[in-house]
Amino acid sequence: MADDATTKQTDVIVLGAGMVGVSSALSARERGMSVTLVDRRQPGSETSYGNAGILSSGSIFPLNTPALFEVLRWNLSWSIRNPDWIVRFLAKALPAQTKPRAAALRGLSATSLKLHREWIVKAGAPQRIRETGWLKTWRGDVMASVKAQQAALAEFGIKSEVLDRQAISAIEPNILPVYRTGILHTETASVDSPGNVVQAYAKMFAGVGGQIRQSEIKSVTPDGEGWRIVLSDGDIFGRNVVVALGPWSAQLLRTLGYRAPLAFERGYHQEFKPNPARQLLRPIHDADIGFLMSPMEQGIRVTSGVELTDRDAPSNFAQLEASVAAARGVVEFGEAVAQPWRGARPTLPDSLPMIGAAPRHRGLWLAFGHQHIGFTTGAGTGAAIAAMICGAPPPFDVTAFAPSRYL
Ligand SMILES: Cc1cc2nc3c(=O)[nH]c(=O)nc-3n(C[C@H](O)[C@H](O)[C@H](O)COP(=O)(O)OP(=O)(O)OC[C@H]3O[C@@H](n4cnc5c(N)ncnc54)[C@H](O)[C@@H]3O)c2cc1C
Repeated sequence: MADDATTKQTDVIVLGAGMVGVSSALSARERGMSVTLVDRRQPGSETSYGNAGILSSGSIFPLNTPALFEVLRWNLSWSIRNPDWIVRFLAKALPAQTKPRAAALRGLSATSLKLHREWIVKAGAPQRIRETGWLKTWRGDVMASVKAQQAALAEFGIKSEVLDRQAISAIEPNILPVYRTGILHTETASVDSPGNVVQAYAKMFAGVGGQIRQSEIKSVTPDGEGWRIVLSDGDIFGRNVVVALGPWSAQLLRTLGYRAPLAFERGYHQEFKPNPARQLLRPIHDADIGFLMSPMEQGIRVTSGVELTDRDAPSNFAQLEASVAAARGVVEFGEAVAQPWRGARPTLPDSLPMIGAAPRHRGLWLAFGHQHIGFTTGAGTGAAIAAMICGAPPPFDVTAFAPSRYL
């Protein structure tokens, strides 16, 4: 394979510079391939910008479990137009379906966490990662069910601590004592600026000879032994192309005859000026109301729950406003430091991403559908895609993520 990107045909063209695309590009470059990464925006400007910044070891139970429905907002018109997706999503929410998927996600998450801990140091951004875990909380005494969650995590080798009100106050002394039960995912990390972390990884990619092209992707077509990518400012050619366009992936694939059943679990965030005397020490997930509070570089980021609707439907801030009001009852913070942000978690009916080869095209690789955990699992996805392109074994079992399960 060529070892620089100046040849007419690049080894790998990665479409999309979110966490998934940047990780794929970096991993492919680390394997010695020539790589061009394309995005219309700066790396890490979309979904990979606005998330809660949790690098989770413990989010292995796909979120389409019965508990999700308590905090989910369905758009009626979307639901009427997408009955198939809903039926498949609900069928996968049955408890018997969750264990094999948890095992698959465990492999992906463990690989990802290891890579993030290496990359963030190599990228010169070690100050952005916090090893303080992730705290999930309840207002009632739900000790028995939380202990069951702990046991379920332990089955997969994931450590956690169950906390009562006093223990929660001991680790988060600046929140009001509203929570009676909590579970601390002790092996989970978080970052203070997800967008800046993606940018640091992209800079590292460029530093080892990767090419970054900022341009609108217009179309992708097979061309001889490889692929022609039509960009708004010219065409490029690659032997392999990786589709890592997050919530925009299915749209592009339709032009190649693939109908990926991708839906959008939209979410919002807004950041607020923290009270320096009342800082949060880690992301806190209020499981009763379904929102998250994360300490970020710019302030406290409050993220809302899930809104199942069209990707580009007009914003509905009701959930975010309710989340912010509830968060003010937990921790003191000042006025907003930025406008509300909206993003779309790209989700397939089984809540597992697609990682692997497209079934009917040689050199077409799919890496999307990472739902609630793509900021974490983008890293492992990238490593697996790069390995598969080289014909090497991926670093974890990718069977459950095969695109052929839907395409
Ligand atoms: C509110 C919220 C909170 C979340 N919290 C967490 C969390 O704490 N931890 C976690 O692990 N995950 C979290 N997630 C999920 C995570 O953010 C996503 O799964 C992940 O960012 C998806 O990354 P991606 O690279 O697939 O997509 P994206 O980051 O959206 O990247 C896709 C890229 O494709 C580009 N693109 C699209 N179309 C074109 C085109 N035609 N031409 C050029 N470029 C194009 C876009 O500009 C974009 O940069 C959260 C998500 C939300 C919404």
